[in-house]
Amino acid sequence: MLKCHIVQDLLPNYIDGLVSKETEAEIQQHLQECKACQAIYTQMSTPTDAPSTIADRREIDFLRKIRRRFTEKLLLSVAGIVLVLAIVAYFIAIGSPVNQNHLVYKTEVKGDLWQLDLELTNNKALLVRTEPLYGEANANGIRPVIGTLLKPYQLVPSPLLEAENKSFMYGTQLDSFEREDYKIILRLDDGDVTFTGDNFNQ
Ligand SMILES: [Zn+2]
Repeated sequence: MLKCHIVQDLLPNYIDGLVSKETEAEIQQHLQECKACQAIYTQMSTPTDAPSTIADRREIDFLRKIRRRFTEKLLLSVAGIVLVLAIVAYFIAIGSPVNQNHLVYKTEVKGDLWQLDLELTNNKALLVRTEPLYGEANANGIRPVIGTLLKPYQLVPSPLLEAENKSFMYGTQLDSFEREDYKIILRLDDGDVTFTGDNFNQ
């Protein structure tokens, strides 16, 4: 047996024939057995105004009700998503900048490639964000890319990250360093390490 407040919530839809056959049958049964709901049903289904006004009002009530339910659901969904994202972000995306004491880095030249190897030594997971470095704008207002900024972050190890996620390799064409303004910047918590044509192989 349906509860009274549910029946009363459903009455406008019931009167407009918008409920399923099963719900309709249950409401009918409830109305036969419940005086209170029956009275409300009679009141709601008896036109006191011009029929079109009643229909309009029912439609408005109906839409209002849908909108309210939709809003409630939407708010719940948004809250849920935000919570999940916050948890995921905490474990994956947000880390703290890496300190030089916790990072071993070495440079290598392999053929025409220059390579920078990073390894975290504090058992946390390593995430390196890379951003292009831009030079001065040229005559067309375009700022050329003149290198890369590497920003290592240490993260709480999580089941979502591979356990081996402690090292990172960055590679670039060796002849890039022939450009005077070319640089690779390794941004650590305690300062930048900058590799240019003068010191790329140190
Ligand atoms: Zn009832």
